[in-house]
Amino acid sequence: MNSSLQSALQLLEASSHAIAFTGAGISVASGIPDFRSPGGVWERHDPMEVATTRALKSNPEGVWRFLLEAFSLTTKAQPNRAHTALARMEHAGVLHGIITQNIDALHMRAGSRNVVEYHGTMARCVCMGCGQTFNEPEKIVFSKGFTIPWICDQCGGLVRPEIVFFGESIPLDALEKSGQLAREADLVMVIGTSGNVAPANTIPYEIKSRGGKVIVINPQETSYAGMADVTIRQPAETALPELAKAFSHHH
Ligand SMILES: [Zn+2]
Repeated sequence: MNSSLQSALQLLEASSHAIAFTGAGISVASGIPDFRSPGGVWERHDPMEVATTRALKSNPEGVWRFLLEAFSLTTKAQPNRAHTALARMEHAGVLHGIITQNIDALHMRAGSRNVVEYHGTMARCVCMGCGQTFNEPEKIVFSKGFTIPWICDQCGGLVRPEIVFFGESIPLDALEKSGQLAREADLVMVIGTSGNVAPANTIPYEIKSRGGKVIVINPQETSYAGMADVTIRQPAETALPELAKAFSHHH
C-alpha cells in the first residue's frame, strides 16, 4: 500500500462520519464513459437539444432517441470494484453514506444503502401528465413494439426518466438529504469527479469549512487539489478495494 493510501486509511480510521461524493469517473470502468470528457457524448450531442425539458416538449422523438442510447449504456453496465468496495465499507460501518452525481444507479445495485442520487436516476421514469412512476423502465423501453417517445398509457402524457435535465433544479429531497449527510460528515472521499458541476461541486467545500477532512481519489487533476488533505492519483477501482480490504482486516 502506497503512502497516500496509508494516509487516507489513517484519516478514515480517525473519522466517525465518513461519506463519499462520487462522479462519472467511478463508472467509467463499468463501461459508462464520462459524458464531459474529450470525445464524450457532449461533444457529439448538444445537451440543450437532448437533455432539457424544453427539448423534451418541442422534440420528444429526438430526446427519446438520445435517452434510448443512454438506457442501453446504463442497462448493460454492472457495478465495478469501486462500487462494491464502497458498499463493503458501508456495511463495515466505515462509510456513512454516498452522495452521487451519477444517474446510473450502480451504487444501489452494488448494495450501498444510504445513497443520495443528486441528479436523479435512470432506474425510474415518471409521467409528466399524471405522475405515475415506472420502475425498471428498461423492460418497457427495450420491449418489442415500443416506439419513441414514451407516452403514458393512462393519460397520454410524456414519460421521462427521473433525472435532472440541464437547467432544472435539484429535487428538494435530494438537496435535503445531501445537506444532512454533508452536515454530519467529518470526512469526505471525493471520487471520480473533477468538481466542475454546480451546485453539487460545493459539497466538499462545505465539509472542509466545518473542519472535515477531504480525500481526493482521481487519476486526473481536479479543482479540489488545493484543499485536499490526501490525494490518491489512482482510478477508484484500484484505490477503493485496497481501502475496503484494510477495513475488513481491522474489524
Ligand atoms: Zn400519465
